[in-house]
Amino acid sequence: MKSFPFFKKTLFFLFLVLFFNSCKDGINIFSPQDDVKLGTQLHQEIGNNSKEYPILNNLSVKNYVQNILNKIINSPSIKFRNTFKYELTIINDDKTINAFATPGGYIYVYTGLLKFIDNEATLAGILAHEVAHAECRHATERLTKAYGVSILLNLILGEEPSLLAEIAANLFTGLAFLKNSRDDEYEADSYAYEYLKSTEWYPGALIYFFEKVKQNEGNSFLAVLLSTHPLSKDRIDKLNERIKKDNLPQPNEKNLFSERYQNFKKTLP
Ligand SMILES: [Zn+2]
Repeated sequence: MKSFPFFKKTLFFLFLVLFFNSCKDGINIFSPQDDVKLGTQLHQEIGNNSKEYPILNNLSVKNYVQNILNKIINSPSIKFRNTFKYELTIINDDKTINAFATPGGYIYVYTGLLKFIDNEATLAGILAHEVAHAECRHATERLTKAYGVSILLNLILGEEPSLLAEIAANLFTGLAFLKNSRDDEYEADSYAYEYLKSTEWYPGALIYFFEKVKQNEGNSFLAVLLSTHPLSKDRIDKLNERIKKDNLPQPNEKNLFSERYQNFKKTLP
């Protein structure tokens, strides 16, 4: 009976893994609150690094994008709207066409991306894709893969604080851990489509972004994007399949909002 506490603890953690696991089959030994903690630390790091991340302080621009984000997180498929932050930051850098999310739902969009795309539905698609990375907790899933066994052992042995602190410290040497795998990308695309179904925007709008990226592949402005978001022909094919399967009617101005978006673009610095 001496080993009982060990099994009890193991069962408890298995329960946590199963209980908090979201989206598909990833195993995650972090809690959603851990995601928020990690994300908040990262958000502060980013805020303190204005050289690499010059934040745009323009309230009307920020509000326009934040309002789109708010509508997306009202989708019935969103689980962590009351736990995660879902706070938007715009990075004033026209030379980077990218967006990213930290664990816990801080979403970052570069002005380069805002200028690159042509309609509001595409922006909604990109934001929804980033929300999906947060909701599926892809970053802490990857951390689980990298550190999982040793964390679990340390937790069982009761030595967790030092190791968790070490992981947190290692995270902030660059945002490399935000780099998504191909499967994470598929999953985020799929959930983005799902989230948009309950909104005013065309759910297949990410396709416009993919196609424009494909046309501009050689452009060095896209290098960062392509390194953190692998864009393969498969992603385009998968989305097209989905659109076909759902028999989506052809998009139009009423669900793309190109005109509204072009007016917004004129307000960018
Ligand atoms: Zn992604």
